Amino acid sequence: MKKSLLMVNTGAGKGKTTAALGTAFRALGHGYRVCVIQFLKGAWTYGEKISAERFGDLLEFHVMGRGFTWTSDDFEKDTALARDAWSLAREKIDSRAYRLVILDELTYLITYKMLEEAEVVSFLENRPEEVHILVTGRNASDGLIRAADMVTEMAAIKHHYAAGIQAQKGIEF
Ligand code: ATP
Ligand code: MG
Repeated sequence: MKKSLLMVNTGAGKGKTTAALGTAFRALGHGYRVCVIQFLKGAWTYGEKISAERFGDLLEFHVMGRGFTWTSDDFEKDTALARDAWSLAREKIDSRAYRLVILDELTYLITYKMLEEAEVVSFLENRPEEVHILVTGRNASDGLIRAADMVTEMAAIKHHYAAGIQAQKGIEF
């Protein structure tokens, strides 16, 4: 039976975005079109930008926002940007042009209340039958977890950063 899945990669450990990209790699291998929307500026690094170009029209990605954080000096402006990004995501999902849509770091927009959880969850629950959705980001909210078909929590058992090891090319960026 074919089914469109709502999947969530969450938790404090490393691997949420890279596992999503691994899923994209798998889907692209079948010739499926994939759309990645990155809700946080800078979350998509050079390595994947260069790789993405090699897939041509099959893989599309959008970088939204300007670094939504608690350090934001203009919440109203960031919220407006978040809403624009969310509106693009809805448009891409509703277009049914992609087999997989990755919403990278979407959880933050819910955590910071730039988007209303109920609105996001209700839209994702009513996704088209032929579109898989993969959400990444820490602290996935309860409603999102309830609505999802699959939730994986990456646990930070150990990270090289704690030992003072800088981000490595090909691993971190
Ligand atoms: P990745 O993109 O490597 O899969 P991620 O999506 O799980 O990571 P994010 O919260 O998006 O994690 O943060 C991305 C960056 O933060 C990566 O450079 C990653 O190495 C680093 N990072 C992730 N988890 C940890 C951690 N537990 N401690 C320190 N740095 C981390
Ligand atoms: Mg990430």
